[in-house]
Amino acid sequence: MKLATIRWEGRAQLALADAEAGRVWPVAPPAWVPTPFDMVDLIRAWRDLRQELRPRGDGVPLSQVELLAPIPRPPRNVLCVGKNYHEHAHEFTRSGFDSSAASAQDAIPEHPIIFTKAPETVIPTGAAIRIPHALSDQIDYEAELAVVIGRPGRDIPADAAMDHVFGYTVANDVTARDVQGRHRQWFLGKSIETFCPLGPWIVTADEVDLSDTAVRCWVNGELRQNANTRDLIFDVPTLVAVISRSMALLPGDMILTGTPAGVGIGFDPPKYLRPGDRVTVEIAGIGILENPVEG
Ligand code: MG
Repeated sequence: MKLATIRWEGRAQLALADAEAGRVWPVAPPAWVPTPFDMVDLIRAWRDLRQELRPRGDGVPLSQVELLAPIPRPPRNVLCVGKNYHEHAHEFTRSGFDSSAASAQDAIPEHPIIFTKAPETVIPTGAAIRIPHALSDQIDYEAELAVVIGRPGRDIPADAAMDHVFGYTVANDVTARDVQGRHRQWFLGKSIETFCPLGPWIVTADEVDLSDTAVRCWVNGELRQNANTRDLIFDVPTLVAVISRSMALLPGDMILTGTPAGVGIGFDPPKYLRPGDRVTVEIAGIGILENPVEG
C-alpha cells in the first residue's frame, strides 16, 4: 500500500496512491479518531485502521493534487547512517572530507555511524533544494532508502526488528561537504533547510524486498548512483537493533540508511550541485523523488 500526504481542496490530508494508475484516493479518517489526523497518527493507529483503508470511487488524478512529504515535519530529528555501502565508504574516505576515518584502512566502519538531520530540512518531491551560498557552495546529493518506524520499541532484537518497520520512502541526504568536514561531525552540514527531500509516499514494508531493491540517482539525467539495498554494510534489522539499544524508537521515526557510491565528491574534480540542476532519486517499487536546485 502506498500512503501519501497531499494538499487537495486547500488542506493537507492523507491519501492512498497508485503510481501506475496515476491516481490518489483521499482518506477520510473514521469519526472516532481526533482531527487533524496526519501520517504519524495513521502509523500509530495502523493496526485498527488498516482494514478500513481501501480506494473508494474513482479517486483524483495525481496531477490535480500537490504531493507533500509523506511526513512533512517529522516529530523528531531524522536518524541517518553514514558510510553504509562499501564502495561509497571508500570514495568518501578518499575525498578528504571524512572526519570519521583516520586513514584509508579505516574506511569501513566496525559499527554503524549514526547522526541526525533537523526535522526542518524535510521538503517534498518537486520542491527546490536551496544552495546556502553564504555558508557553502559544496553541496552534494545522497540517494537513500528511508525506513519508517511503526511499532515503538527499546532494545529491539535484530530478529524482531522488521515487526517495528512500518514502511519505506525515498530520501536525498543533501550535504554541505565543507561544513561536514570542518566540524568533524555531520549534523551542521546536513541540517540546512531544504536538505532532506523526502517522498513521494510511504510504501508499506510488505511490498518491498530489501534483498533486491535498486537505488538510483541521476543529476540532469546523468546516472550517478546505481546500487542495490542488498549491498548495505549494516542491514535494516541491525540498524534498528543498534539504535534502539540507545534510544526508544517511536512511530514515525525515520532512518536514512546511507548512500551508495557515486556522490559528487566521488568524482575528480567533484561534481557539486549548481542552481538549475535537477536531482532524481528512484528506489524500485517505492517511487521517484525529484527536486530542482536553486540558489
Ligand atoms: Mg547520507
